[in-house]
Amino acid sequence: MQLVLASSNKGKVKEFTQMCEEEIIPFSAIVEPFEIIEDGSTFAENALIKARTIYEKIGGDTLVISDDSGISVPLLGGEPGIYSARYAGEDATDKDNLAKLIREIQAKGMHQTPAHYTAAIAIVSRYGEFVVHGWMYGDVIDEKRGWKGFGYDPIFIPEGYDQTLGELDGEVKAEISHRGKALKIAKPIMQMLLKKG
Ligand code: IMP
Repeated sequence: MQLVLASSNKGKVKEFTQMCEEEIIPFSAIVEPFEIIEDGSTFAENALIKARTIYEKIGGDTLVISDDSGISVPLLGGEPGIYSARYAGEDATDKDNLAKLIREIQAKGMHQTPAHYTAAIAIVSRYGEFVVHGWMYGDVIDEKRGWKGFGYDPIFIPEGYDQTLGELDGEVKAEISHRGKALKIAKPIMQMLLKKG
């Protein structure tokens, strides 16, 4: 049974590859990349939409995993939340989204404020569907620090740390991150399904 990741986000592909012992195949290596309409109202719904869509395309002996994730800032009423990837507009880049979040924090007269990341990981195979979650709490700041990680990482300081995820090593992020925590729960499910293969 092959393990396919329903994402072409380079940051996510890199993290899943680092965190899983099994070979992970990005879906774009198997089918022509196409747009998936993520019109769910929660991370879990969007993660399921992505995994189901790819499973329906590939099917058979495939285990599809997907990740829907984002950052929420209570000061901004929970924004950008499930809209993290398109915060600065439909075709926004990570850089545009990060710049917008910094502007919104500054517009509230803040330099630092609490925030959290959420990851929903969905697993879809012929044996059914599963969704698990992970969270990482901390603060966001109004300036970029470091170049590691991706997306909003240069402004996110995890609880208990002084450095941003842009400054901390990938191994540290894997241990404490929303994605790392969700994957710890997802792994036994994936391994059980891969054995059934
Ligand atoms: P998705 O690919 O539709 O789930 O969108 C995820 C969005 O949240 C993108 O804008 C990412 O940059 C952001 N995001 C999710 N996880 C992380 C992370 O671990 N670090 C930084 N940004 C993240």
